[in-house]
Amino acid sequence: MIIKDSEFGEVIVRKNALSSGVKFSVSTSGRLQMSVPKRTPDFLVKRYLNSSREKIKSHLNLKDPSTQRARDAKKKILMKQAKEYLPYRLKHLANEFGYKYDNFRVSHASTRWGSCTRHGKDGSTTISLNIGLMQVPEVLRDYVIIHELAHLNHMDHSKAFWAEVGSHDPHYKMHRKKLEMFSPGV
Ligand SMILES: [Zn+2]
Repeated sequence: MIIKDSEFGEVIVRKNALSSGVKFSVSTSGRLQMSVPKRTPDFLVKRYLNSSREKIKSHLNLKDPSTQRARDAKKKILMKQAKEYLPYRLKHLANEFGYKYDNFRVSHASTRWGSCTRHGKDGSTTISLNIGLMQVPEVLRDYVIIHELAHLNHMDHSKAFWAEVGSHDPHYKMHRKKLEMFSPGV
């Protein structure tokens, strides 16, 4: 449930069978998050929120509502750009280096630039690329794509895997290092 609050903006309320009391935290988007016992009525949720305002402001590092909205807007733009650009670039590099994958997915996890998965049932492969890639220089973006493509042949980070990455991107060590200056989270 989402409460629209004049001070905190959108407050995410989770009614949780396991929680025994009210807990406040910050979501990855910088919003206030409340966890309350499952059967807590809405009016009580609002009362808890109102009586905890000062405590929340002094203890939690929340983003103000306009920053929250700006982040949402930015994420939406990156998502659109990523959906247009990444599948095209992935296909291009796969063709250039002779890789075949089955599915492509855009992700927005805050910790990973990409992933390559082989599904147990039918052995089909999915490559996911993070929308945050739209914010890094093209050579680093290509490095991530090459990295995930090389996983189609090596589902690990073995010597053979890195040798394959290096055969397509001779400067991969430098690119990998530079990528650490960026974060996939938006
Ligand atoms: Zn990897």
